[in-house]
Amino acid sequence: AKNGGRNQYQLFQPQLKTNADNYMTLVSGLSSALGRGELQLHFQPQIDLPAGGVYGAEALLRWHSPELGAVPPDVFIPVAEANGLIVPIGRWVLEEAIKQAKHWVDRGCQEFVVSVNLSAIQLRDAELAEQVAGLLDRYGLPSHNLCLEITESTAIADVETSYQICKALGEMGVKLAIDDFGTGYSSLAVLGRFPFDFIKIDRSLVRDIATNKKDLAVIRSVVALARDLGLQVVAEGVETAEQHEMLRGLGCHEGQGYLYGRPMSRDDMDAYLQRKGCC
Ligand code: C2E
Ligand code: CA
Ligand code: CA
Ligand code: CA
Repeated sequence: AKNGGRNQYQLFQPQLKTNADNYMTLVSGLSSALGRGELQLHFQPQIDLPAGGVYGAEALLRWHSPELGAVPPDVFIPVAEANGLIVPIGRWVLEEAIKQAKHWVDRGCQEFVVSVNLSAIQLRDAELAEQVAGLLDRYGLPSHNLCLEITESTAIADVETSYQICKALGEMGVKLAIDDFGTGYSSLAVLGRFPFDFIKIDRSLVRDIATNKKDLAVIRSVVALARDLGLQVVAEGVETAEQHEMLRGLGCHEGQGYLYGRPMSRDDMDAYLQRKGCC
């Protein structure tokens, strides 16, 4: 039994050590990533479905670590949230996105909307609305060119504070979107209460619409609900022409997905907008 235990221990130990090492590399790498200029914002186009033009772009964070390579945001954002690093990182993301939005507005895309993902931690900070107002002011970006995306899990971390922040942002004219709608993290309770402008339908609901009548029915009722609430619907994860046609037919207002463009560097987004004749 003793021997068996030791073997088990020996088998398990390297694995454990590797995971712990990876985690420590992740944490220490992330804490210097901002200062070393390893973070970058990419932008993914959002299409106006009825009109066919470019509506805006979602800013998506990228980290290229010299030690770990390209680390996906699904991996490093939860780590940044767990140790507070999301606060300076989130501030940097907002500033970069606002700076970039101003660049596109100045180039002639006057209605271009740049969307930024907010973490639950950021929505606990009562100063957030003031911070956003300060950045809009510093870069001279009209508030209607900025949209902030939050999920229900983001909002309910501290409902009262996040509600007050969202209310203040809405009153400033900043657009608000409820993200990942249909995943179980976003629900009707939050939808009715917060001053949202957009519902973003999660890509898990979009994926099988061509074959799954139930997913189709869910999207149809989300569009109807949005209409009643005076909101617009953005469909995420649009990958095929068939999905595009169906979503447009259902009355979704905007689409985002690989069909229109993958997340790209701001220089590539410049070229993309030029190619589309936007700006
Ligand atoms: P999200 O907000 O739901 O962002 C959309 C994700 O879907 C992005 O993944 C995007 O690359 C991916 N995507 C877009 N179109 C398609 C498609 O047609 N097919 C498929 N399969 N995927 C598509 P990404 O960039 O890996 O980001 C993952 C998540 O990380 C985001 O999900 C968001 O929750 C978080 N995130 C990214 N950037 C930030 C940030 O600056 N701040 C915060 N707090 N979270 C961020
Ligand atoms: Ca998002
Ligand atoms: Ca989403
Ligand atoms: Ca997501």
